[in-house]
Amino acid sequence: MKKCIALFCAILVLTFSTNAQTQTPPSQITAIKAGRLIDPESGTMATNQVILIQGEKITAVGANLAIPAGAIVIDLSKLTVLPGLVDAHTHMALTYKDQPENNYYYLTVVMDSTPLRAIQAASNGIQLLSSGFTVIRDVGNNGLYADTALRQAIEQGWLPGPTVIPSGIIIGSTGGQLWPTPEMYKRHSIVYPEYLDANSHDEIVRAIRENMLFGARTIKLCIDCKPWGYSVEDIKLAINEAAKGGCKVEGHVQTPEGAQRAIDAGIYIIAHGNTLTPEHHRQMAEKGIFLAGTDTPFTKYRGTEAAFKQTVAKLRDAWEKKVPLTFSTDFDYWNERMKDEKTGEWLSRGDLTIAFIETWKAANIPPADILKAMTINGYKAADIIKERGPIKAGMFADMIAVAGDPLTDIDALRNVQFVMKNGMVFKKDGVMAPEKFFHPGPVRIPSGRWTR
Ligand SMILES: [Zn+2]
Repeated sequence: MKKCIALFCAILVLTFSTNAQTQTPPSQITAIKAGRLIDPESGTMATNQVILIQGEKITAVGANLAIPAGAIVIDLSKLTVLPGLVDAHTHMALTYKDQPENNYYYLTVVMDSTPLRAIQAASNGIQLLSSGFTVIRDVGNNGLYADTALRQAIEQGWLPGPTVIPSGIIIGSTGGQLWPTPEMYKRHSIVYPEYLDANSHDEIVRAIRENMLFGARTIKLCIDCKPWGYSVEDIKLAINEAAKGGCKVEGHVQTPEGAQRAIDAGIYIIAHGNTLTPEHHRQMAEKGIFLAGTDTPFTKYRGTEAAFKQTVAKLRDAWEKKVPLTFSTDFDYWNERMKDEKTGEWLSRGDLTIAFIETWKAANIPPADILKAMTINGYKAADIIKERGPIKAGMFADMIAVAGDPLTDIDALRNVQFVMKNGMVFKKDGVMAPEKFFHPGPVRIPSGRWTR
């Protein structure tokens, strides 16, 4: 029996090492010549840097590094290189529309199958990566785990996309965010799988374990979607349970009372800033609670001037109070008006996402702080800053490049020229070149917990 186990282990090791080699050969060295290199943490820029990459990771960064013989050299000496961007709250696999559902997402849920939504998510991921988003937190409303499937597919090497931090199904007390009729609730199960009902402590524990079992990397709670929402004690229990699987908890809040309960429980991220008061901001800054404000700009395809003014004022106050801010969109919709005004062409999901910088500009937040929210704070909120983000030795080689200087002109981010993910070039000279990301099988076995 022992011999059998040893043989089995040997086969496993062999299989894993073979798989690891089918991607970028680990011995291949790439050298990037960066004309300018931004460190968003300090808000500083160095010039004429060399970044050495071996396989998927950065091995060295400096001004006078010797480029090894045989290295692939990528010349970005005319560009500004910086870490990839993060959308800290989005929805990749939900697209509600004017037609036929009149933007009423109960109907989207009924009409769009999970497989269709998973394919939408895959397309959105490619569009976001092209605009420089190398990490996204996908926090629910993905049918039956389209979000964790997308994460797995990208990690396994089926297709390109950002690093996905999925929440699995949003956990809420009876009804989630929906108000179904008894017929729809009892006979047609309309709440699940958009929401996972969990009322008692036992049900909360079970719901969190189910999400983690199916691949969630963060947990999302509806704190106050119903008057019978979660208490401070309920939220603390959830935080404790999620921590067992290495997950942090985000709370969706839509009332001042719900926000206070989330803060009192010591939640990791609060989503949606529109009911937060200056006092909430003060407490969040004190406790280091991240804000994913989902700060929608006023555009011809979305929003109202009045709502925008309020969003800008709230974001400004949160920044003044020094709340750890993330860049977040809550994107989950589409309409016919999402076209470029000059060319008449469709805006991509990446264009639509980057457009949220308009709210930050209207709040008069300095570009360096916007950039920090879009990178460093996003990596921290996604809880991956030890692996991804800062451009330094030992980190995964995820980076982008733009013309101009985003530290003084944040609009420079609207035109991403170069994208690298896991050491592989995805976009160069402003054109997507994703061939190397596509494989006929799961060629990469991700390290770390749960590959399913
Ligand atoms: Zn949301």
